[in-house]
Amino acid sequence: TRIKGDYRYEIGELASTLNYMADEIVRSNQIKDDFISSISHELRTPLTSIKGWSETLVSGGYDPEETKLGVGIISRESDRLIGLVEEILDFSKLQQNEMKLSMGQVDIKVLLQETLLNIWAKAEKKRIHLLLECEETIFTRGDANRLKQVFLNLVDNAVKFSPEDSSIVLSAERLSSTEMAVTVRDSGIGISEAHLSRVRDRFFQVDALNGGTGLGLAISQQIVELHHGKLEMDSELGKGTQVTVILPLVEVEQEKS
Ligand code: ADP
Repeated sequence: TRIKGDYRYEIGELASTLNYMADEIVRSNQIKDDFISSISHELRTPLTSIKGWSETLVSGGYDPEETKLGVGIISRESDRLIGLVEEILDFSKLQQNEMKLSMGQVDIKVLLQETLLNIWAKAEKKRIHLLLECEETIFTRGDANRLKQVFLNLVDNAVKFSPEDSSIVLSAERLSSTEMAVTVRDSGIGISEAHLSRVRDRFFQVDALNGGTGLGLAISQQIVELHHGKLEMDSELGKGTQVTVILPLVEVEQEKS
């Protein structure tokens, strides 16, 4: 039997801790390698298309319609690149605890309406119906742009993983005098129980072929936590996913007319 205080016991403990740390380092290096290869691919795809189209257009001889098509693709792919780079920069800011919030009173209904307007065209392409169910005058304190980024990311995922002709519901309701819940509900492909606990981990993706960086949910969760809120997920494979963001509720004095 091993007695605590016995050096053999302590060396044994130390060895197993070191082993555990070595495994963790190997595992996190593997995650980083996977991330670098997937991000390189994500960056290369739009760049290849931008380069291809600009070379084609520079060589000249195209009619206005073809030129318009090419310039349109260059502009869209540039937006995609900017989005990717911003996501990586946000992630790195959060890692270093350097994301600054510009706090103010946020009208959730207005924010959710703006979110849906931003994603409308993308949903339309899949004939997905976007529904808003929101109480009037429901306010939180926070950074409106950052909160919009969170809801955009959640609705964007919902659109990405939903079939054509389905519906996505964005709703907000008071839970108590101090809390509200904003929910994004889709009836898409869903997430298995085994994956559900991991999708909010940085870099994690159920299927790397879907594109993206695996950072969206990790960033969203951290932004919500900076607002003293919580991000919860519920899902059933083949049925759909529900993401709930709990945020502080603030009472706003209504102007008397
Ligand atoms: P990405 O930007 O790569 O989509 P996220 O962190 O936003 O990264 O999501 C991580 C993974 O979680 C996605 O790749 C996908 O596998 C899964 N996921 C996220 N939202 C949904 C959803 N609404 N329905 C099904 N799967 C989802």
